[in-house]
Amino acid sequence: MSENKIGTLTDNHVVSLDYTLRLNNGQVVDSSEGREPLEFIQGQGQIIPGLEKELYGMAINDEKKVIIPPGDAYGELEPDNFEWVERDAFPADMELTEGMGLRMRDSNTDQVMEAYVAEIGPEGVKLDFNHPLAGETLHFEVKITGLRDATSEELAHGHVHGPDGHHH
Ligand code: ZN
Repeated sequence: MSENKIGTLTDNHVVSLDYTLRLNNGQVVDSSEGREPLEFIQGQGQIIPGLEKELYGMAINDEKKVIIPPGDAYGELEPDNFEWVERDAFPADMELTEGMGLRMRDSNTDQVMEAYVAEIGPEGVKLDFNHPLAGETLHFEVKITGLRDATSEELAHGHVHGPDGHHH
């Protein structure tokens, strides 16, 4: 009998992963259902560290439930990532509501950052620059649907190429 060339999941494998992500309250916040599986190269930090760690040793068709604390996922909710800005910082005719997402350009670094309106008060607008899943414990259900060695080109580029060798 010939040995399975791929065997179990190690670094530099291209992994195809079906997944469902739930929060503590059971709410589904992300899923590959009805879409292509997630594809990434194992060992390159392309997915959150807590999940990557749990995938080592799995084989095709293996399924697993994984619970990941915030520290191994999107981090804790940092008080420093909240910032009050004056209402005047936004166009007067712009409607602001709590919970809405904004794209803000940092005038110092010129980087575009995602923020959420956490609170609107007389002092101004409180913006939340935390990742939307910061502070959340993540409950993943995963299934390995594909496993192969990454090509040297994929390893050099640091991302997965399509079946025809082209970029996605
Ligand atoms: Zn490439």
